[in-house]
Amino acid sequence: MTVNGYAAKEPKAELTSYTYELDDIGPEQVDIKVHYCGLCHSDISMINNDWGMSQYPFVPGHEVIGEVIAIGNAVKNVKVGDKVGLGWTAGSCMSCSQCMDGDHHLCAESEPTIVGRNGGFADKVRSHWSWAIPMPDGIDMSKAGPLLCGGITVFNPIILAGVKPTDKVGVIGIGGLGHMALKFLKHWGCEVVAFSSSPDKKDAIKNMGATRVVNSKSPEELESIAGQLDFILNTTNVTLDWDAYLTALAPKGKFHNVGAVLEPMQIPAFSLIMGEKTVGGSPIGSPALTKTMLEFCVRHDIYPQVEEFPMHKVNDALQHLESGKARFRIVLKN
Ligand code: NAP
Ligand code: ZN
Repeated sequence: MTVNGYAAKEPKAELTSYTYELDDIGPEQVDIKVHYCGLCHSDISMINNDWGMSQYPFVPGHEVIGEVIAIGNAVKNVKVGDKVGLGWTAGSCMSCSQCMDGDHHLCAESEPTIVGRNGGFADKVRSHWSWAIPMPDGIDMSKAGPLLCGGITVFNPIILAGVKPTDKVGVIGIGGLGHMALKFLKHWGCEVVAFSSSPDKKDAIKNMGATRVVNSKSPEELESIAGQLDFILNTTNVTLDWDAYLTALAPKGKFHNVGAVLEPMQIPAFSLIMGEKTVGGSPIGSPALTKTMLEFCVRHDIYPQVEEFPMHKVNDALQHLESGKARFRIVLKN
């Protein structure tokens, strides 16, 4: 099968048209016709080879919404014609302890959609059936793509940390992931404080439900919130004053990181010890939790705020995200 996509031919290159062939479909594989694909900051990090695992030609895209056009003879959950989503992961072994426990996203053999294989900035993409997540009835396909990576990445920590509706929480970085976190936590019932470095986002952030917007880089503003938050989620990939955020936690508070911060994070031991505070992190989430999240989104009408670009304008879209102007997630449309 011929796939027409957009690929970077070397690190930091513009994407150009790229055609490749897929072998015959495997027994447990599904082929998806891509209708929409979200643009995640991880796509930029992979184009640039920031994480040292990119292979070129490189087709990014791991927030796919589309339709199943072919299935192998042992596929279980979907049939041709079904509407599905595909996120960061396109396959896992299905037999290790993590997979058997329902934590397929922690499988050591898991196959990321854009590592060593080609992603969703294309007309088609292939995955294992377990990661082709059926779309619930009534979902808005044009806005659902970003939920498949960014959305589940910030939904999973709410479950992992046991966030309660009575909690006062914070989200650092109100970009693609951060604005979805803000919406989820607001609908969870929490009081949400947004930490942002962009003053021009303030009105939009308040409209999404934040009770307060704190400058994420201002020592004075961070000091003013000391000891108040039960849970803080970091979605930025830059080095901030992490100790100031640990100080912002209430006793027993949890700091959870999902941003791909490249430098080691400075975490002073006594900032954890004195208030019984914890620090954690996580990648995406399981297929089952992704399905639960999608149902939660339909029930409460939670969607990312998206800007739509035609797929062939992918380089304009990448530049828009890189310049910090995206409000708040870009979706490419085929
Ligand atoms: P994004 O849309 O670019 O948002 C990142 C936000 O971080 C920006 O909107 C900005 O928010 C803040 N920020 C950026 N540069 C900053 C700076 N110099 N100082 C202070 N704040 C800054 O990116 P994204 O798609 O949400 O992805 C966020 C991170 O999560 C990336 O590192 C990505 O690779 C990672 N990620 C991880 C997983 C996982 O499984 N753990 C999954 C998906 C993505 P403000 O304007 O509000 O300050
Ligand atoms: Zn992503």
